[in-house]
Amino acid sequence: MRAAPRTRRAGRPKGAASARPAATGSGPAGLPFRVGHGYDLHRLEARAPAGRGRPMIVGGVILDDPEFALGPVAHSDGDVLYHAVTDALLGALGLPDIGQLFPDTAAAHEGQDSADFLREAVRRVRGAGYDVGNLDATVILERPKLGPRKKEIRANLARLLGVPVERVNIKGKTHEKVDAVGEGRAIEAHAVVLLSRRG
Ligand code: MG
Repeated sequence: MRAAPRTRRAGRPKGAASARPAATGSGPAGLPFRVGHGYDLHRLEARAPAGRGRPMIVGGVILDDPEFALGPVAHSDGDVLYHAVTDALLGALGLPDIGQLFPDTAAAHEGQDSADFLREAVRRVRGAGYDVGNLDATVILERPKLGPRKKEIRANLARLLGVPVERVNIKGKTHEKVDAVGEGRAIEAHAVVLLSRRG
């Protein structure tokens, strides 16, 4: 018996492409959806001038905690979440990762606002004919607590990605006091994005 023809209508976001040929191509243009995963980790050290740590910034929000004197060691501003999301976007397009596009040896990127990397990744997403569907991300750190600032972080990401805030989900977790992250010596982030082809 002949298999029923695959329908691409199911699950298509409202307003997305409808008459595009089936996705069989090898390039970004050949797929109606593309998924991307990003991961990043930064070592945490005492903040300058005592150490090399920068202010603790996550998702564009400075997390002030007088009892936690560490911050990310980084060439840029060290925003682990923006870096993971940038890599997820670039990965979805099959592009080189953030470290290849914005080398940490380039003087121009010293202390750079990581929102700039994210904006460039979004520009490339749009240039390839896609829009961001949604983002799901997890930040893993012992301190400070992410919860009180999560709303601001979501709003920052939604603005940069050009999506309603409901399409951005951020989870904060600890590492149960084990390994480098759990001992407060590092911060990690994972991000997954879905891109949908513009109709
Ligand atoms: Mg990084």
